[in-house]
Amino acid sequence: MIIAIDGPAASGKGTLAKRIAAEFGLPCLDTGLLYRAVARDVGARGFKLEDCWAALALSRSLNPQTLDDDGLRSPGTGEAASIVASMPMVRASLLDYQRAFAAQPGGAVLDGRDIGTVVCPKADAKIFVTARAEVRAWRRFAERQGMGLAVNYDGILDDIRRRDARDEGRESAPMMAAPDADLLDTSDLDIEAAFVAAVGLIKRKVSRPGA
Ligand code: C5P
Repeated sequence: MIIAIDGPAASGKGTLAKRIAAEFGLPCLDTGLLYRAVARDVGARGFKLEDCWAALALSRSLNPQTLDDDGLRSPGTGEAASIVASMPMVRASLLDYQRAFAAQPGGAVLDGRDIGTVVCPKADAKIFVTARAEVRAWRRFAERQGMGLAVNYDGILDDIRRRDARDEGRESAPMMAAPDADLLDTSDLDIEAAFVAAVGLIKRKVSRPGA
């Protein structure tokens, strides 16, 4: 069974994807880490983020073993990732890895922005997770405050809106819900309620394919 979980930053899709994977006994791939790792490697080698040839070369040589890097979760890396993620050639070069992950026996859970539309258009279940931008900004604020980081709510909200606009507005694989995706708005749900709702949607989809 292949489960696609898409949605914008801080919608809760990453946490949901991990819990869903555990619930169904499936491996889970956070595809945002691939773009974050390419952005990290571009910066680490002294190239400009806008250098699409450098980003392409580094996406081709990306070592998936290096995705387990806490630095990839740092606040600036999401913004940098969305810049390299807007490059069609970079996206194309990361496609095989994602599709091979999804094709393992038994299936997988993948979360990102274009899983239901481009990476796994035939996924058995697709959920597009949303939440109001202000709610997402509060979540990020609380998360970073909890990590002891200096935080500014308005700055976080601006970052979220800018990233949403870039991810939705790019020509190649823009962030969007697949026509056959179920929408899950987590604005007024805690993670437990969102998880229960997501599992219900998946079970319904799998028991009534095409519904
Ligand atoms: O999900 P996460 O915040 O880690 O993603 C970082 C960035 O990577 C996103 O803002 C988006 O630009 C890009 N991304 C993407 N397609 C995916 C996953 C992430 O374009 N499937």
